[in-house]
Formats: sequence, structure tokens, C-alpha cells
Amino acid sequence: MARERLYLFDTTLRDGAQTNGVDFTLADKLAIAGMLDELGVDYVEAGYPGANPIDTSFFSERRPMRARVTAFGMTRRPGRSASNDPGLVALLDAQADAICFVAKSWDYHVRIALETTEEENLAAIRDSVRAAKAKGREVLLDCEHFFDGYKANPAYALACAKAAYDEGARWVVLCDTNGGALPHEVEDIVGEVCKVIPGDRVGIHAHNDTEQAVANSFAAIRAGARQIQGTLNGLGERCGNANLVSIIPTLKLKPEYADKFEINVSDAALGRIVRISHGLDELLNRAPDRHAPYVGESAFATKAGIHASAIVKEPKTYEHIAPERVGNKRKLLVSDQAGRSNVLAELERIGLSLDKDDPRVMRLLDEVKEREAIGYAYEAADASFELLARRMLGQVPHYFDVEKFDVNIEQRNNAKGERVTVSQAVVKIKVGDEELISVAEGIGPVNALDLALRKDLGKYQSFITGLTLTDYRVRILNGGTQAVTRVLIESTDETGEHWRTVGVSANIIDASFQALMDSIVYKLMKSGAPA
Ligand SMILES: [Zn+2]
Repeated sequence: MARERLYLFDTTLRDGAQTNGVDFTLADKLAIAGMLDELGVDYVEAGYPGANPIDTSFFSERRPMRARVTAFGMTRRPGRSASNDPGLVALLDAQADAICFVAKSWDYHVRIALETTEEENLAAIRDSVRAAKAKGREVLLDCEHFFDGYKANPAYALACAKAAYDEGARWVVLCDTNGGALPHEVEDIVGEVCKVIPGDRVGIHAHNDTEQAVANSFAAIRAGARQIQGTLNGLGERCGNANLVSIIPTLKLKPEYADKFEINVSDAALGRIVRISHGLDELLNRAPDRHAPYVGESAFATKAGIHASAIVKEPKTYEHIAPERVGNKRKLLVSDQAGRSNVLAELERIGLSLDKDDPRVMRLLDEVKEREAIGYAYEAADASFELLARRMLGQVPHYFDVEKFDVNIEQRNNAKGERVTVSQAVVKIKVGDEELISVAEGIGPVNALDLALRKDLGKYQSFITGLTLTDYRVRILNGGTQAVTRVLIESTDETGEHWRTVGVSANIIDASFQALMDSIVYKLMKSGAPA
């Protein structure tokens, strides 16, 4: 039986960006967009062009992706024409495949918040959809507060949805904007909507204020909706959005959905969902939720005891899915098998194919485990992992040695009599037989060290001129007197590639040095610098 296609719409970069404490840089957005593309979502809503400089620059050029890059914004303002609304014009000019408009669908909001008439709001929806279609964009309409609106005035809420649909919008998305709807209500109301608008044109956008965003999304699917909106790790304002990291495995692994529906996420991508989920946490500089369904470290951890031998004999008796399917591990046994396949998958991703029985796979796994135990995190440090793997295979040339470095911080009065703190680094490098000494001052000790390191690499200098550090993050692990510092550095170069490296030490300068060195060596390697 042919399965029906379900579409996944990710809004981590737009709605998720509203999360308290989350501030995405452009580089973050590009990195997350890459993760989403790897995962296989159908749409990546990347932001609100015109609303802030980062979103505007994201949409200032084509971002080639498998997913449809979607720009978010409002329908034309009441009382203006589409061509005379600067917000709408910016949205139409955005380099995007699709445009998602948000419009009010609750008559009360139309009158009170928008201070306009119900008819003018419908006209704004029609005009905006028409203008975006004329620009060749795929169009979606987010019906804000749809469920509350429907409860208050079903005819008007439906009229808003219908206006977009009749004008040719690809999707009409029903939003539970304040997250207060319950699954049975969502199922009933979506069912009613699908009598008027075909389900394969209807989407669900659920918030998690009663912790039922995932359940509400599935309720909508059961009632006929065929697009699910959500975010990675359920990121989002207040209590978050529907968590795609929970929804995807359920769609792929639970027969009730898997037998009926097809999504664009491959089995292989599903096997990387733990890494993607944790990779996002690393970017956000926060610890992954150990108890997250499917992907948490404890999701398949069973306390040893009377169950232990039964689990070893027949894991199915205790687990609702095989943890390997989502790239997770059974906690009870130290599952070398699962670890090995993770490492193999990672190696494949960087273009190294080793036989699964190659002893070097186990050696690399052991090394990764040992390093992770002391604080390294490779899920968000792709370049450091690649270097580790290639070093073990003897594929990383020995470019140069840092014989010594010295970082000095001085506080003194400058010529104007102001108190200033100055950082200076001296680095002594040996390239072949050549000894090079560089000195640099920087904003802070790490910056000084970075500048000195990259000032003169002798015959390798020309290979690193395009190298730029775009981000630097520090996390203190296991606090207290035993505290260890993890530094994550993100770099880019003239080709536009981004890569991340990691360093761990009790000393923040040392941890930074490791991550800087990995970044430079990675750049030399990828530029094909000769040994
Ligand atoms: Zn939302």
C-alpha cells in the first residue's frame, strides 16, 4: 500500500530563536540549517527578513539546501496595498523558496490587536498570498491563534484559512499560538477544517504550554493534517514548540504512523538524530537533557539488577524501540556494537570508509570514549573528530611544532592615564628547520595567542590567510575545585566552509590553544598544504 507523504517544517531558526537565552549568530543559523538539511526536514524556516540584521543577511543570498528555505513575515498591513508595504516588500525580496505569512484568524484579535475589520484582514491575506505567488514563491499561511479563534467564531477562523487556500497557498497552517489547546480539541477542529480544505494542504503548529505539543501534532495528523511544524529539541518561546526530535522517531518507528506515512528522513539520518540533537545543545552551550525521549543519555538506561540478564538476552522485552535506530545506546551494557556503528557512521560522513571489523575502528572508539570521559565533545566538533580519525590513520601531515608559548596579561595606566588591561602572546614555532617567533597583542589572552599563532607560519602562511574565527565558546564542566574547561571554536575560510574544534583542559588558555591548533591544522589539511 502506498504510504501518504507527511511534510516536516522546522522553525528552530525562527520560532526557536525566540527561546529565552538563545541568540543565534549568522554562523549558528547556517550550522543549524546544515544539521536540519542532514536530517531531511522538508522546510527550514530561517527567520524574519527585515526584523533584525542577522535574519536579513541570512536571506540576502541563496542558501542552497535540499530543504525549502522559508522566510517568515506578516501579511500586508491593513489599509495599505501590498506594493506599498515595506515589510512585505522586504519579505518578497528575500532569497527564499517559500514564504510563510502569519495572519490573525481570531476575530477578537483582528478587532482589538489589529484594529481593523474582519473583511480587511481577509483582503490582506488574499493580497499577500497573491503577491508572493506572483514572485514565484511557495506560500504558507500561519493562522495565528487558530484554535482559540475557531472556538470563538468558527466561521471567521475558517474564512481566514479558506482565503489563503482559495488564493493558492500551498499550506494553511493551524497554530495553537498560546499552546493551550488539548489533543481532543485539536483532533476535532482539524477534522472540521479538513472537510473544507484538503488535509494535504493543512499543517499544524503546536506550542508546548500544557506539555502536549507533540500529542497535539499527532492529533492533527490523525484528523488529516499533513504538515507538522516544530523545532529541534522543542526549542521555542515560553515552554517551547513541538519537538521534532521526538516526533520524527515516532513517525519512523511506530507502525501506526510508519505504515501509513512517509517522511523525507532516511533511516540513516534517523540514526544520527542523537548527534544532531546534542550538536544543537553544544552550539547553545548547554547540557543535553539526559531524560529526553529517544535521544537522552538515560532514554535507554535501565538499572542493573534482576532485569539485567533479561535485557542482555532479549532487549525487546524492556525497550520500546531499539536504541540504535536513533543512534542512542543501551546504558546497561557498554554497547561496543552501537558505539562502533556510530563511529563508522561518522567516518563515512567525512569520507573515510573502513571495514566494521577493522581494529582501528575499535581503537578510535576507545580513544573517543576516553576523551569524552574527560570532557571532549565531538558531536559539535566535527573538525576535531576528523583530525583524531585521520591522525590515527596516519593521514595528517606533521606541519609544524609549537616549541613554546607565553601569554602575559598586564594591567597598567596608558598614556592618557586610563586603566587598561593588555594581553600579549609570544609563540615560538618550528617549521621544518626554520624557527619562527611571533608576538601579538590582543583583546584578551586567547585573542593574543590566536593572533601570534597565525602571524607567521612560514611556508604555510599562504594556506591560512583566509582562516577566520567566527565563534568561541567556553563551558565549565563538573564545577568546583575539579573544574575542567571545554572550549569550542568555530572557524570559517574563503570557501565559506565552517568547522568546529574542541579543546579541554583545567586551564582555559591551554584548552583554547588545543582548539586553535586543531582549527589551523584542519585548515592546512583541507587546503592540501604539503607536509
Ligand atoms: Zn509559534
